[in-house]
Amino acid sequence: MIKKSFIGLAKPRLMYETLESLLPEPRNIELPEKVTLLLETVSEKSSANGQFSIKEGDKVKTGQKLTLSGENGIYVTATVTGRISSVTPFSGNFGKKYMAISIETAPDEEIDADFGKIAVKDPFNGIRDFLLSCPGGIPPHLFSDNNGAVKTLVICGIDNDLLISTNQYMVKADMNSIKDGIDILKKAIAAEKIIFAVPRHLKHEASAADAVTKIIAPQYPAASPRMIMKDVLGLVVPAGKTCEDMGVTFINAEAAASIGSAFKDGVIPVNKKITVIKKDGTAAFVSARIGTPLSNIFNALDIHLNEKDRIVLGGPMTGSAVYSADLPVLPDTDAVIIQDFSVIPLVSDCPCINCGECIRMCPANIPINMLVRLLEAGLYEQAEDEYDLQSCIECGLCSYVCPAKIPIFQYIRLAKHELFRLQTGEEITEEANDD
Ligand code: SF4
Ligand code: SF4
Repeated sequence: MIKKSFIGLAKPRLMYETLESLLPEPRNIELPEKVTLLLETVSEKSSANGQFSIKEGDKVKTGQKLTLSGENGIYVTATVTGRISSVTPFSGNFGKKYMAISIETAPDEEIDADFGKIAVKDPFNGIRDFLLSCPGGIPPHLFSDNNGAVKTLVICGIDNDLLISTNQYMVKADMNSIKDGIDILKKAIAAEKIIFAVPRHLKHEASAADAVTKIIAPQYPAASPRMIMKDVLGLVVPAGKTCEDMGVTFINAEAAASIGSAFKDGVIPVNKKITVIKKDGTAAFVSARIGTPLSNIFNALDIHLNEKDRIVLGGPMTGSAVYSADLPVLPDTDAVIIQDFSVIPLVSDCPCINCGECIRMCPANIPINMLVRLLEAGLYEQAEDEYDLQSCIECGLCSYVCPAKIPIFQYIRLAKHELFRLQTGEEITEEANDD
C-alpha cells in the first residue's frame, strides 16, 4: 500500500504489503520443456576456455551438482531431470558473467542421491556444497569459514521491497520448515545469535522458532538490511563497509525453509515462490521450477506482452528492468512486475532543480542534489569522497520522489559498481587474462 503525502506537506509513507489473514495458495506453473540455469563465473573468457565438467548431451538428474572445472567450486544444482542442450556464455546486469546451462526436461523425474547420502550427516558442508542455489538464495559468504565470522544471522520474514509477499507467505504457510532450517543453521555455523525479523502481525508465527524474534516496522525501507542493522541491532554500518564486515549475515525466510525441508526429506527443493504484479496492478502468487522462462509464467497467468512493455525483476523500488521474457526464474527471483508501456514512468535528462525532495526522503541523509551532479558527470571517486556515496542503502526513495525524474538510483548503482571494479582491480585482472 502506498500512501502519498497530503498536499506535499509530509513525506510520502510507503507501507509494506501485509499478509494477515489472506493466504493465497501459490499457483503451480507447469514444468517447462526446457529450463535454463545461470552459473556465475569468474570471467567469460576463462569459462569459455575452461574444461567443462558438464557438456551438451549429458544426462542430469534433479538435484545434481553442475560445475565448471577451474571455477573455484562455483555450482548450481539441476532443477529438472533431462539432457543438457547447451552451455553458453551469458552477460547479466553490470556485465556480470554467467554460463547459461539449458536442460531439456525428461518426462520421468529422477532424484540425484548425492545430497541425501553425504550432506545430511554434515550440515555445514551440506548447505555449502549443495544448497547455495536453492529457492530463496543463500549468500555464499555464509560459509566462507566456520570460525565465528558470522556472529549474528538474521532471518528475514518480510521482503525488502514493496508489493512483494513471498517471504511473509513462507512464514504463514511453512513455519515448520523454517524452524527446521534454523535448527540446521545453528548446527552448521557458529553464530552467537540468530534473529528472526518479522512484521508485527507475524510475531506469533515467528515465536515458534528457536531464535530471537524482532519486529520490523511496516514502513519502507525498514526491512532493508542496513536499516535492520540500525533499528534492530543498534549498529550503524560505516560507509564502504558491509553488514558482513560487522559479523552480520542476512538470509530470507524462504532460504531457511529450503534448508529445513532439504535436510528433513533428503531432497533439494527446486520450486521458487514468486509474487507477480500484473499490468492492472493486481498480484498473483506462483510456484515455478527454478530455470522456468518468465514467458511460461506469463502464459499461465494470461498476461500478454506488447512491444515496449516493461518486465521488472524485483520490487517497484529496487527491481531491475530486463529485456527478455525468455530469461529464467532464478533462486532469488521474489517478484516480477509487468508494466504496460503506456504507464511506464518516464526518466529524463532534465537537470536537478534543487527542490530538496530527495534529501528530505533519504534515510542515509545524503546530499543527493550535490551527489547527482557528480554522478551525471561520471565523477564517481569524487562522489564517494565528498558526498557519501557509499552510505546509500539503495532504497530508491530518491528516484521515487524526484520531480525532475532523474534516474538517481540507477546512477548510484552504476557508480558503486564502477568503484568496486576500480578498487578491486577487476579491469586489471581481465586485461591480464586477455594476455
Ligand atoms: S537510494 Fe537514494 S534515498 Fe535511498 S539511501 Fe540511497 S541516496 Fe538515499
Ligand atoms: S529530488 Fe531531483 S530535482 Fe529535487 S533536489 Fe533531488 S535530484 Fe534535484
